[in-house]
Amino acid sequence: MANESTGGPPRIVVVGSGFAGFECARRLRRSLRDTGARIIMVSPNDYMLYTPLLPEVAGGILDARFVTIALSDALPGVELVRGAVDSIDLDNRTVHVTDCEAGAEVLSWDRLVFTPGSVTRLFDIPGLLDHGRGLKTPAEALYFRDQLLTQLEMASRDTDPRESRARRTFVVVGASYAGTELIAQLRALADSAAARQGLDPTAVRFVLLDAADKVMPEVGEKLGAQVLDVLRSRGIEVRLETTLTELTENSVTLSDGTVLPTHTVAWVTGVTANPLVDTLGLPTEKGRLKVAADLSVEGHPGVFAGGDAAAVPDPRHQGSITPPTAQHAVRQGRTLARNVAASLGVGEAKPYAHRDMGLVVDLGPGFAVANPLGIPLSGLPAKVVTRLYHLFAMPSPVNRWAVGLAYLTDLLFPRPLVSIGLATETQAQFAVSQGIGARN
Ligand SMILES: Cc1cc2nc3c(=O)[nH]c(=O)nc-3n(C[C@H](O)[C@H](O)[C@H](O)COP(=O)(O)OP(=O)(O)OC[C@H]3O[C@@H](n4cnc5c(N)ncnc54)[C@H](O)[C@@H]3O)c2cc1C
Repeated sequence: MANESTGGPPRIVVVGSGFAGFECARRLRRSLRDTGARIIMVSPNDYMLYTPLLPEVAGGILDARFVTIALSDALPGVELVRGAVDSIDLDNRTVHVTDCEAGAEVLSWDRLVFTPGSVTRLFDIPGLLDHGRGLKTPAEALYFRDQLLTQLEMASRDTDPRESRARRTFVVVGASYAGTELIAQLRALADSAAARQGLDPTAVRFVLLDAADKVMPEVGEKLGAQVLDVLRSRGIEVRLETTLTELTENSVTLSDGTVLPTHTVAWVTGVTANPLVDTLGLPTEKGRLKVAADLSVEGHPGVFAGGDAAAVPDPRHQGSITPPTAQHAVRQGRTLARNVAASLGVGEAKPYAHRDMGLVVDLGPGFAVANPLGIPLSGLPAKVVTRLYHLFAMPSPVNRWAVGLAYLTDLLFPRPLVSIGLATETQAQFAVSQGIGARN
């Protein structure tokens, strides 16, 4: 096994340290242990982010560090290059990397694993870039926690009733699992704050909007209806078939013409493939890089892709591609490792296959919905399954321990009401936190 151009050990460059890239590097490290192959991971982060728990970071149950898995601990032997890939030369087999101080580096590869994930899907709505915030990064999750606590404190001292109402109104756009989990966690945090400040919790308004006619279509009709009941019983207004037409500093306009005074808008309407896909000039489907069933990129030997950035044929639904979920990304990471190793002469390649394990959705105090292996669960049993699932799925014992202790703390004590103020409004803007939507 040798580097095809220099004759040295082969170089595998993995772009991105998310679910797919992380799992791929972890497995390659083992399967190529005795071969001398170099595995080089390029990512702007020194961690793998466990995104399913971001709503609990926003809700003040978990610390942001608990949901970030340190690459240096979890991937010994993998070379980490901290920077963003900004272009890939497929003919000369190089990637161009820019680090956080704008320094440039060019890395050559024999195998490329392309897993840069996705970014929040933005729409051309006036004010969205300035006044909306997404939920894809620790900075965004911390922003929501801090913003909620700060706005409630300021509202309690505000003498202008309209302004006070605006501070106490929180709007979340997107009622699939991420948006629904976020609003449930923020509601619980607001209820805790209200109880300790002697505030009437009904004075804090939460509005969940979605252009579709149901919440969480991913969990099916029956569980979706239960979720709707629970959200409404907690005083969350759910407005379906409704979206935003404008955002300003202190209000939003809904598609039915209603104007709601608010200073806080979460935009959680779905994702689109990382913009790096467009720079490749290769065929795409739904904006994601087309790959074959074995996750290789046709016409470019040695190039593989998976996760949210790739359009992976779904073997269970002929003609469809797999949805952008962590579950698929992790398993595609395994297939990527297997097939990259096979391309270097270790083991045999296999097409991507999966079995649907179901979904778990935590909806704040005492409630969750889950359909493990297709069995619909709600309430406390689902809550237990959801928390155990996350503890099991988290790929690091230290993080598992920290999250487990935080869950125990949550059972015994009220949520801590602390806004440390590290994630500012600016740091949580799409352009800064996700590098998207910047104006030229
Ligand atoms: C709030 C939230 C909750 C979710 N909950 C669930 C859930 O409960 N269950 C579920 O199955 N899925 C869930 N998902 C979806 C899941 O997070 C994604 O499907 C999954 O992260 C995709 O994995 P990935 O490896 O493709 O991309 P990501 O995990 O997004 O990782 C992409 C990596 O690429 C890096 N990167 C980006 N650009 C570059 C570049 N130019 N150069 C180098 N590196 C780059 C990023 O920093 C990151 O490390 C949730 C998502 C969110 C946002």
